[in-house]
Amino acid sequence: MTTFSLLPGRYDELVRIRRDIHRHPELAFAEHRTAAIVRRDLAALGLAPLCGVAGTGVVAVLDTGRAGRTVGLRVDLDALPMTETADVPFKSEVPGTAHTCGHDVHCVIGLGAASLLCERRDTLRGRFKFIFQPAEETLEGARAMIEAGVLDAPAVDVLLGCHNSPQLETGRIGYRHGASMASSSAFVIDVRGTAGHAAHPRSGVDALQALPMLLAGLNAIRAKEVAADQPLILSVGRIQGGRARNVICDSVTLEGTCRTLDDAVRDEAEAALRRLAQGTAMATRTTVEVQWRTLAPALVNDRETLDRAIRAIGSCLGAGALVELDAPSMGGEDFAWYTQRVPAAHLRIGSRCAGRSTQLHQSDYFCDERAIESGAVALAAAAAELASS
Ligand SMILES: [Zn+2]
Ligand SMILES: [Zn+2]
Repeated sequence: MTTFSLLPGRYDELVRIRRDIHRHPELAFAEHRTAAIVRRDLAALGLAPLCGVAGTGVVAVLDTGRAGRTVGLRVDLDALPMTETADVPFKSEVPGTAHTCGHDVHCVIGLGAASLLCERRDTLRGRFKFIFQPAEETLEGARAMIEAGVLDAPAVDVLLGCHNSPQLETGRIGYRHGASMASSSAFVIDVRGTAGHAAHPRSGVDALQALPMLLAGLNAIRAKEVAADQPLILSVGRIQGGRARNVICDSVTLEGTCRTLDDAVRDEAEAALRRLAQGTAMATRTTVEVQWRTLAPALVNDRETLDRAIRAIGSCLGAGALVELDAPSMGGEDFAWYTQRVPAAHLRIGSRCAGRSTQLHQSDYFCDERAIESGAVALAAAAAELASS
């Protein structure tokens, strides 16, 4: 078993790169500067990075020349449309854009893993494909990368991914068998009635009548239509409608999200919502239309891939570094699209920083950059093992 650790000089360099990316965050599919930094670093390692994959993605292959499998290592590049409030010397210099999900750290974890594997190429087998994906936050990047052929030529046999986790101490690596992150779907329910004078209710068809039926119906789907041990979230986060206080409301729109850990449950929820819409329309004399878009399926880890990955990580970082997570996340992650195509494992890289925010997507989120080392070592160790046969 090969052991991995970053040389101190390389760690310092990765911290510098991370802080540079953090200061200059870029949104989905606009990660031009970030991609250029990634390309430069990969080229300095002696690789021949391919840029512009699915717009701003970067891909590089390390071929050891020895028989083995091709292992993909996927990290993400993009930031979020929010203003950073964390008090750090390398705070975002772009108003309204910030790395409050820690993808800046993911970028350099990918670069760190690349340097670890390049240094030891003479002792390794197979091929390593370093995949720097744009637009994870909008859940669009993975599909775009797959369509651009990132899993082909050379064909990726097995894929690794990771996300930092402020719920875990830095240095720990979390994992979960089976479904570890939720499917994420967006739905819009459009109710149309007819306007009229509010003083004369029969002069129109009030679209608002549909509202309590739809909201109660969504809760009933959760309560009555799926097994009690199957998580299902059907949340409405935005409602818009009406023209004036004295005009019968002719239009109301509800927007929401559906999360499940099983794509079959997601499909049942969609079918139930469409039935609810039809019934509501009939009962209220309105028309009700549903738009449903699945942004990411459930992220399901391949058991054998995950088992081999965590064994390799345990022998490198120590078994004490591994944490089996007792609950899945109901957050979505577009890495899930790859898991439908190739056996894959997704890891959580502990990044908790004492006294700092422990929630991703908060304006003061601060990802502990010491996670760069444990993340890079974990990915490299797992990749080396998975490539060996
Ligand atoms: Zn995020
Ligand atoms: Zn993220």
